[in-house]
Amino acid sequence: MKISIKLGLWFFFCILVIEIFSMFFLHNNLVHSQVHQELNSLQARGNSHRAVLEINSDAATLHHIGLMESHTDTEVVITNTTGDVLLSSSKINRSMRAILNKSINNLPRNGRVLQSDWQKEQYIVTVTAFNKNGEKAGYVYMFKNTDEVQKLISQLNRHFLLASLLILFFMIITIFLLSKALTKPLISMKEATKKISKGNFSVTLSSPSHDELGELSQSIQTLANDLNYLKQERNEFLASISHELRTPLTYIKGYADIAKRKELEETDRAKYLDIIQEEADRVSRLLKELFDLAKLDQNTFSISKEQVDLHDYLQSILEKILPAFKDRNIQLKLECPKNLSFDLDPIRFEQVLLNLLDNSLKYSKENTTALIKVFEENEAVHMMMNDQGLGIPQEDLPHIFDRLYRVDKSRSRSTGGFGLGLAIVKQLVEAHGGEISVKSEFGKGTCFKIILKK
Ligand code: ADP
Repeated sequence: MKISIKLGLWFFFCILVIEIFSMFFLHNNLVHSQVHQELNSLQARGNSHRAVLEINSDAATLHHIGLMESHTDTEVVITNTTGDVLLSSSKINRSMRAILNKSINNLPRNGRVLQSDWQKEQYIVTVTAFNKNGEKAGYVYMFKNTDEVQKLISQLNRHFLLASLLILFFMIITIFLLSKALTKPLISMKEATKKISKGNFSVTLSSPSHDELGELSQSIQTLANDLNYLKQERNEFLASISHELRTPLTYIKGYADIAKRKELEETDRAKYLDIIQEEADRVSRLLKELFDLAKLDQNTFSISKEQVDLHDYLQSILEKILPAFKDRNIQLKLECPKNLSFDLDPIRFEQVLLNLLDNSLKYSKENTTALIKVFEENEAVHMMMNDQGLGIPQEDLPHIFDRLYRVDKSRSRSTGGFGLGLAIVKQLVEAHGGEISVKSEFGKGTCFKIILKK
């Protein structure tokens, strides 16, 4: 069943129950007050006859009273204390007689209602006693035919029915419009998620409202945008990888074709085979880095931390890479306080440092200095990797941690980078709960800063 119909039916059912209850209550109250009013006016009329009778109760007065009531929709019967009828404005019928035969005790001064059942009885009746010379002299019975009351009530019922039908009609229209308006954003969200699940992420959801539905729609929109971005990023990534692979494979194929030639000089063949080997190494390096990244992405690697003395740890790493720096006449210095220990994964973190140092080496000119400075501040260890190399242009800085991003595409082939090193570094630093940032001035040098919270 559609949500709009479901919602509409629920609304309808709830409001219908409320309407029935309130109409019933209102109707009962109105009927009750109408009957009450009729009885009051009947009793008031009886009382005014009593007032007249207490002044004068001779035959002429009785005749007058009878005459007055003969032109109204009420009847009057006046009896003496023994029940003999002194006056009756109409012929006394059976149901009137039954009332007159009732014994009356403890009647208050203003009289009493004798019969109020307007639904079953023929009359509603009140009675008032009148006195003469301080003694009780008789009773004034006032009768009103219930046909009149019933007519009045049925008129009221007709009004009620009409009002109920009108309310029902407007209620159905309102519920229809309301449930449509309420379910419209839900339906468009459903359509959007259906599209997303089919792989089409270009959805546009308008979310003008600031309620829960608006927030949900906003979340779906953000999800779609993110998925779209990821899809594009994946496509670009795949395109870049295939490009990365195509170049060395073209070399390998081309040089293998030449190396196969029989008439080729052995020295040339060796040269071509060297190139083939170099390019094959490059491909396997790329695949290794990609594999590393994939593992980091899936979080399938584990960080096994242990306490290391940072000075000794860094010194041992530096020693490994020092010859390469010396080769290019670049000084490599370490400033790290002794006895500063920290919990990290020594193998993974070595990869971080080697990648950064390798970059300093690749992108530094000869006769410059690279410096690793470590210090403790605010419950965190700060590591700064400074070099006096080429620097990174300002516009490239936000992207250098992206995969396969290289500042200078042509240069990188000669230096051999794939643009994956910093992406791996970032993942590993974050896996250690740390953060990495970069500052650089083009032409002057670069500084990477790692902050590891204790
Ligand atoms: P690559 O394998 O190309 O070095 P990285 O991810 O390690 O890839 O670095 C991305 C890019 O950032 C590099 O291509 C380079 O242009 C720039 N870069 C990284 N480190 C430095 C540095 N120390 N000095 C200058 N440029 C750097």
